Amino acid sequence: MIDFKKLLEIINYNNSFLLTTHVNPDADAIGSEIALYQILKELKKEVNIVNHSATPYNLKFLDSDKLIEKYDENKHIKFLFETDVLVALDFNKSDRLVSMQTAYRESNKLKICIDHHQDPEDFADHFFTGSDYAATGHILYDLVAKTKLVKMNREIAYPIYAAIMTDTGSFRFERTNSELHRIIADLLDYGIQPSEVYDNLYDESKMSKIKLLGRCLNSLQIIDGGKIGYMILTQQDFNELNAIESDTENFVNFILSVEGVKLGLLFIELKNGFKVSFRSKGNLPVNKLAAEFGGGGHINASGARFRDNQMQELMPKILNRSKIYSGKYLKENNVQS
Ligand code: 5GP
Ligand code: MN
Repeated sequence: MIDFKKLLEIINYNNSFLLTTHVNPDADAIGSEIALYQILKELKKEVNIVNHSATPYNLKFLDSDKLIEKYDENKHIKFLFETDVLVALDFNKSDRLVSMQTAYRESNKLKICIDHHQDPEDFADHFFTGSDYAATGHILYDLVAKTKLVKMNREIAYPIYAAIMTDTGSFRFERTNSELHRIIADLLDYGIQPSEVYDNLYDESKMSKIKLLGRCLNSLQIIDGGKIGYMILTQQDFNELNAIESDTENFVNFILSVEGVKLGLLFIELKNGFKVSFRSKGNLPVNKLAAEFGGGGHINASGARFRDNQMQELMPKILNRSKIYSGKYLKENNVQS
């Protein structure tokens, strides 16, 4: 249970807030920042939003007033040491702040974390988290609904709707239930058009993204007697197609649409190092598998980043661990293959 009374107290007793989120932000990250910004602004607070990553182009519609700034140490480091409260949204491990991490850790300002991932690292003073929430935006909805600190309005409802839409895979993942649909119904009453939000998020892609998806799907390999699938994107793919990391959002889910596949991995080579997205069907907890490699996330969706390793070198080891892990887990839990 989230202690909203404590959160309310922190909001009431402080004046300035710095909101930030994780590297390569998704709509829950950006939507939660914009929603909390609107809430705090209603309360006449001083608010800044600064992120390590630039906002991906398909999420810019959520920030039509261009409130979000990309971290520039010269310009923004003072915010980390002079703002009353530093708010970490939609992540629970400080390495996800990348270039902002050192200053964030060194700052002795009050730090709070509002998030819905599993296994938080002890990097903040107060945690307002629950892994039973479908999205960080869902927590912000509850904050408004339960404390009534401000009146819900369209400016708050819209980014919360987008946040929940993405993190539930457009209302199909596990935490989508009747209660969540009632929340969505309430949000829609503020004049939100589902098709408009969906189009902005998913149907305004650049051609380069669709071409990248083509290459990604072409790389699909199925191993382990059909239970594991994986795909690979290299820097060459990105360079040749002029595509970017955020273009890969949701690609990994295609692996799970193959019959019989229980575990999907997407390897993405970055400028420095690489990342792996892990996805699973049913109750195979990929967050534990990702944690073996320093990553984390949710039971069915996790990730890990490797900054100093070559993807081709480590891939066989990760695939091997995945086979052993899923084999052991599926056997222990008597999952029929
Ligand atoms: P994605 O595969 O879409 O990048 O991430 C899926 C989930 O895993 C997200 O909920 C995200 O927060 C988590 N995740 C992705 N990368 C990392 C990482 O490097 N470290 C941790 N702790 N979690 C990650
Ligand atoms: Mn989220």
